[in-house]
Amino acid sequence: MKKIINAPVDVVDQYISGLTKGSDRLQRLAEKPIVVRAQEHQKPQSKVALISGGGSGHEPAHAGYVGPGMLDAAVLGPVFTSPSVDDVLTAIRAIGTEAGTLLIVKNYTGDRLNFGLAAELAKTEGHTVEMVIVADDAALGDGSRAGRRGIAGTVLVHKIAGAAAERGDTPAQLRSLVDDFTSGLATVGVGLEACTIPGATESGFKLGPEEFEWGLGIHGEAGHSRGTMLTAARIAEKAVAELVEDRGFSAGEHVAVMVNGLGGTPEIELGVLLNDVLTELDRHRLSATYVWAGNFMTSLDMAGASVTVARVAEHFRPLLEDPVNVPAFPVHSFPLVQEPTRPAPPAESVARSDRTGDEDLSGLHHLVTAVCEALIDAEPVLSEMDRRVGDGDLGLNLRRGAEHVLQHGHELLRESNSADYMKCLSLLVRRSVGGTSGPLYSLGILGLASVEAHGASTTGWAQAAAEGLANIKRLGGAEVGDCTMVDALQPAVEALYNNRSDTPIGTQLSTAAHAARKGVDDTAELQAALGRGSYLGARSTGHRDPGAEAVAVIFAALAETVNGGLSRE
Ligand code: ADP
Ligand code: MG
Repeated sequence: MKKIINAPVDVVDQYISGLTKGSDRLQRLAEKPIVVRAQEHQKPQSKVALISGGGSGHEPAHAGYVGPGMLDAAVLGPVFTSPSVDDVLTAIRAIGTEAGTLLIVKNYTGDRLNFGLAAELAKTEGHTVEMVIVADDAALGDGSRAGRRGIAGTVLVHKIAGAAAERGDTPAQLRSLVDDFTSGLATVGVGLEACTIPGATESGFKLGPEEFEWGLGIHGEAGHSRGTMLTAARIAEKAVAELVEDRGFSAGEHVAVMVNGLGGTPEIELGVLLNDVLTELDRHRLSATYVWAGNFMTSLDMAGASVTVARVAEHFRPLLEDPVNVPAFPVHSFPLVQEPTRPAPPAESVARSDRTGDEDLSGLHHLVTAVCEALIDAEPVLSEMDRRVGDGDLGLNLRRGAEHVLQHGHELLRESNSADYMKCLSLLVRRSVGGTSGPLYSLGILGLASVEAHGASTTGWAQAAAEGLANIKRLGGAEVGDCTMVDALQPAVEALYNNRSDTPIGTQLSTAAHAARKGVDDTAELQAALGRGSYLGARSTGHRDPGAEAVAVIFAALAETVNGGLSRE
């Protein structure tokens, strides 16, 4: 199993070194696995010290929550293993104040015992110590003897208790406040891929390509059930339904919601899940007043997420709203009241030529439609080719553009001449095609609008095509031989241009289509000099350029449509 580490036994120690060397807010306590606030010595003795921690592997928990508004210290054990009694005791001795210490512990036997014994020993030394156990895992409910596990909801406990400690609550007050909060706090997790512990040769469990684990903890253990992969919307529906059932949330209540990544899930997926979770909460008529999504309590590299919902009674609101200054908890100004979208400025319209007139655009539109259809059909081929030498998006990119143009055909047909038609087409392409191709095609098509000056004859179009090619070469800087779309486009345009007079349009386009096809084939011999293919260096040789292929598809569609149409006549 590949990991960026030196030796498994050094992982936690070296993580703490890196974290504290890279932070202006965190310090390490001597050589111990204890992370404390920088300037800790200035803290008032009247504020209760908050200490949390547990096994490592849940980063940014818990060291990332050390700082004003949250914890005073985090005690770190080895990966997925509770810290020792002595390390917890050292933290209490160093950080505990005259006002006392509150230990925030996730509900695992090891953590309960080590933190619990340290608390007892500290009391014999004269410290005032209270301990709260967080048990928010809805998958386990209240049935089992071991009780629920403590998972991502613990981070919200840090927030609530942190704010209450800053305002001066006593250890006993903090304890009852947390117990009150956790009685309305529930989390459920879904795993898509298990995690691997540094040094282990395989992950804790294996999932089939379409399987997920439901109701799992944060230590790489399997969940309580397994199912067939669901969409984000269905995951959100199931999660929210279980959480509502678990804590008996009822319509009209304010809740805090946290969508948490388990370490191997991209933020984009967490955003999708949050969106769906908010829809579900809305459906249950719960008011999601406090919202977070991100990696808060991970399980090494596990792919998956958890959803936490907490009941927010009136007296918790200021505690959630108080600012924090810690590395891993974002500063929001709550409650979130602003609309998530704001109106855009009015869209630009086509800068039409002065010429009025009513050119018949149906033939031109027929050709453009045929090109769009051909590009849609070519999507799988272009995608596959771009996967080999690029990032695989070209097929979808051009397909999206082609579909957009087809959908907006009525706008094109509102134009009164071919030049304005091309300007409108360029705008449609610019709006819908991204990547490198988008601006190149858009500017190339704008070159075709110069047909206004050249006249909408075979000759005029050939001259306009030459301007389009020149535009693409100017913007992209590519020449024939650089292994780009220009390798197909230039020979095709030259064929049009060289046959611009006295050649029937069908023959002219067939010659161009052949030239484009040959241009594509020639790119197989080349090493890409521009575009993403160039990042492969010599490895791009042997592959035909996808952008050039798209050009050949376009010219083939033009030739076939014109010649097919002619032969039918
Ligand atoms: P990307 O994913 O790299 O943004 P696309 O997938 O939209 O780009 O398009 C890839 C194609 O763009 C390439 O196959 C190549 O034909 C073409 N291309 C890349 N760079 C240039 C350039 N500078 N000039 C002309 N064409 C280019
Ligand atoms: Mg691409």
